[in-house]
Formats: sequence, structure tokens, C-alpha cells
Amino acid sequence: MAINIEKFRYLQNQLNGKATLVAVSKTKPLEDLQALYDLGHRDFGENYVQELVDKAALLPKDIRWHFLGHLQSNKVKYIAPFVHLIHGVDSLSLLKEIDKQATKNNRVIDCLLQIHIAKEETKFGFDPSELTALHEFTQWKNVNILGLMGMASFSDDKNLIKKEFANLKSLFDANKQSSDKEASDNTIETKDFQFTVLSMGMSGDYEIALEQGSNMVRIGSLLFGERNYQH
Ligand SMILES: *Cc1c(COP(=O)(O)O)cnc(C)c1O
Repeated sequence: MAINIEKFRYLQNQLNGKATLVAVSKTKPLEDLQALYDLGHRDFGENYVQELVDKAALLPKDIRWHFLGHLQSNKVKYIAPFVHLIHGVDSLSLLKEIDKQATKNNRVIDCLLQIHIAKEETKFGFDPSELTALHEFTQWKNVNILGLMGMASFSDDKNLIKKEFANLKSLFDANKQSSDKEASDNTIETKDFQFTVLSMGMSGDYEIALEQGSNMVRIGSLLFGERNYQH
């Protein structure tokens, strides 16, 4: 067993109800997850569909499973019956598939739109300019867009990271405002506009993320130790 209990307690105190801690357990053995579960933790994040499905089958049913990172459309069906929150929705076609699988499972699946904020080139995530009309994202009734998720550059430049998180926070606030307005204009649609979650911050940059207004942090290596292999 290799979880860092002191760090867990420290994080709990530091977050103190202001931000949700998602324990990122990818590549880690069941015992480590169970150990954290036994301390009362319920939110776990995984990046690989097969690994998530295998772990969910063997661990307690009241765990809230978060899916992180890029999700392939053809794999949505495996996690649709139970996933708690999908953090990395990065295209409308993926959202459409999530809606389809959610409908089949007779549930509404909560999602975060992944926004490309880092200066690094990546093919994943929406460009901030694509978010001008939240309406586009609400045509599907079995998905619920709860907010935004982003990853800062892998960099030692704290100012750069700070700037990237600040940009995501302003985008979040702008969309939150229009969603609040939308909700009051059209109460029937209120369910579609619970824009409340801003998922930003990992082991290396979560303190900056919190300063910049994050209310959900995704932390792996600080809790479970370094991962032995990189996927
Ligand atoms: C792996 C991963 C994390 C956790 O990374 P750590 O640096 O170990 O805290 C957070 N978010 C995403 C999307 C990840 O893939």
C-alpha cells in the first residue's frame, strides 16, 4: 500500500469544502483505492476505459467515478451505465454519443467541456472561441453540461500557468452568467444550465488553480506516488 495519508489529510484541510478532490488513481492497484475509500474518500478519477470498468466492478458501488482525459466515442457505452462525471468532453460528436448512451441507460450524464488553454499544441479540447453559444450544447437532453475543465501548460513558469487558469476562470464566469440569465428567462430549461463546476489543477499546479478559482482539483501523484509508467 502506497497512499500518502498525511497528504490526503492536508489536502482535505486545504480544500476545506471549497473544492472537490478527485483522486486520480490511473495505473494504481485496487488496494490503494480501497485504502483511500476506507478513509472516507469517494471521488476517484481514471483515464482509461477498460481500467475504469475493471476497477468499478471490483470496488464499492458508492464510489463516484470521474472519467478524465480523452474519451473515444466508441467506448462511451462501457462507462455510460455508471460514470459520475465525464471531464474531457472535447467535441460535439462525443457529446452526441454520450447523450445516445445515456438515453439507452435511462439516465442523464454530467459532463465538463474540456477547453484548450495551454500553449502546447494538442488536438483535444474546444477552443475558447467555440463556446460563445452555450445553446449549441444543450440540444441533447440526456447530457448535463456542468462546467469546464482545463489543463495548464507543463511548465515551471508559474505566471504562465496562472494566466492560463485565469483565462479559463473568466470563460467559466462568462458562461455561468449567460446560463444564469438563460435559466431565469426560461425556467423549463433550468436543468440544462447548472453551470457550477470548474475542474482545474493537478498535483503540480493545484495551488495556483485554487487561487484562480478552481472548485474541483484532480490529484494523482501527490496521493498515490509517482506513476511507474506513462500511458
Ligand atoms: C493524470 C491526470 C491527472 C493527475 O495528474 P497528477 O499530476 O498525478 O496529479 C489530472 N488530470 C488529468 C486529466 C490526468 O490525465
